[in-house]
Amino acid sequence: MNIVTLKPSKEKSLLRRHPWVYANAIDRVEGKPTPGATVIVRAADGRFLGRAAYSPHSQIRARVWSFDENEPIDHAFFKRRVQRAVADRRAMVSGTGAVRLIFGEADGLPGLIVDFYIEDGGDVAQSGRGQLVCQFMAAGVEAWKEAIVAALTSATGCPNVYERSDVSIREKEGLEQITGLLAGDEPPATIITSENGVRYHVDVRNGHKTGFYVDQRDNRALVQTYAREREVLNCFCYTGGFSLAAMKGGAKRVVSIDSSGEALATAQKNVEANGFDAARAAWLDADAFKTLRRLYDEGERFDLVVLDPPKFAASREHVDRAARAYKDINLTGFKLLRPGGLLFTYSCSGAIDSALFQKIVAGAAADARVDARILKRLGAGVDHPLLTAFPEGEYLKGLLLQIA
Ligand code: SAH
Repeated sequence: MNIVTLKPSKEKSLLRRHPWVYANAIDRVEGKPTPGATVIVRAADGRFLGRAAYSPHSQIRARVWSFDENEPIDHAFFKRRVQRAVADRRAMVSGTGAVRLIFGEADGLPGLIVDFYIEDGGDVAQSGRGQLVCQFMAAGVEAWKEAIVAALTSATGCPNVYERSDVSIREKEGLEQITGLLAGDEPPATIITSENGVRYHVDVRNGHKTGFYVDQRDNRALVQTYAREREVLNCFCYTGGFSLAAMKGGAKRVVSIDSSGEALATAQKNVEANGFDAARAAWLDADAFKTLRRLYDEGERFDLVVLDPPKFAASREHVDRAARAYKDINLTGFKLLRPGGLLFTYSCSGAIDSALFQKIVAGAAADARVDARILKRLGAGVDHPLLTAFPEGEYLKGLLLQIA
């Protein structure tokens, strides 16, 4: 049997049901656990703490599957966890063909992400057809891949599973980056899915992450609500998520910026797929930092600005530099707004918490010499639950502000 025994007093976080065991908390390992093998984690006094997946190459040396001494880790365990996650989403999410079915630690499956895309008109709450896309980001879920794929197809009724484990975080687990078919048919070149009444092309093979930023669904709906008759700037637009939402909401004009020509080409296909008037939209293939300043210098002004940049802080060491980058775009974002204008601003850097993000945005408002008022604090949708024991799960945070 594989047993990991912790150093004295290192059991505290596990007793609070935080699922990670750091290498420096471990006193000794008995047995020869291979990557992903199940280990029993014990406190220094021998008390049972949990069953976990062992990861010999990572500083996060083990991730707890279960705190229940009577719960074995077997095929039935994965079937139960996956079924529960799918049932929760079906009960909680509707009106969309793109949903996060499994969100790692919050669903008791550390290191696993699964998104589900359903063809146009389909709804996650009812339909079983579509495409499952997975990311396996830890040794434990990697070792149980087959069981997880079987559980996913059975819980959803969807036979098609594609893997997008092309994420650098796998290197910390000693795993190579990998993509490919796991079950069913090869995914089509694009899936057209619909969210909040807007159709989007999703390329699960080559798109970012699993193809689409599912986490911004509620925020796109909010932009749709407030876009009527407004001139909108959407910075870091990717395939036009917020831009299309603004057009659907009746925006007068939408200017969008992204440095990926491919993403912009898809965004334009999305305009067509929705039958919107292409003349209402302008797409700028350019660097956002420079373009924001240029637009300001040219006297362009907007009623609604969205800033949804990529992760500027990959880890704690990058926080200072990232903070300057967030401040830079938010400062120009504020300056580009007309009086009464709205700013939707986001950070998806886990290393920057919501308090720090708000401080950065406040600094930007001060430097822009505007009175900015927070109307709403924003985050990911209900399909990205945040485990109370695991605050690290909160990566996406945002603010809706209005300037006086
Ligand atoms: N809001 C989008 C997701 C944004 S992802 C949605 O709802 O779908 C971040 C985007 O920023 C990516 O598309 C990436 O191509 C783009 N990007 C990264 N660095 C950039 C830069 N310096 N200038 C412009 N775009 C950039």
